[in-house]
Amino acid sequence: MKKNKLKHFQSLLINIRAEIAGDVEKAHQNEKGKEAEHMADISDDAARSYDKKLQGDLEEQEWVKLKQVETALEKIDNEEYGTCAECEIEIPEARLEIMPYAEFCTQCLSKMEKDSSPDQNILNIREL
Ligand SMILES: [Zn+2]
Repeated sequence: MKKNKLKHFQSLLINIRAEIAGDVEKAHQNEKGKEAEHMADISDDAARSYDKKLQGDLEEQEWVKLKQVETALEKIDNEEYGTCAECEIEIPEARLEIMPYAEFCTQCLSKMEKDSSPDQNILNIREL
């Protein structure tokens, strides 16, 4: 990939990272504010734990995305950016424009999605 293209994707990734980091920080501040507000209001407990659950789910998704963004930034540093981590073909730039933190090409991704369901079943049976 050309240097100027790399720079372009690098700045996209840095923006995404800043966005996620900002959201997480904001969420934490909100949580603190809420707790102070509701300190004496025990009747609100159920609603509050629902809020917390929702927030927890969101943070996990954001966390995963953040990890992907960081991996992609490392790849830019190592000049490995833009190739599929599985089959090592170049990921189309059109795909990277939409998802600059994509680790795999669409073919590998759909293969993994297909493969992952039977594996999951085997795992579940073993656990039983
Ligand atoms: Zn691939």
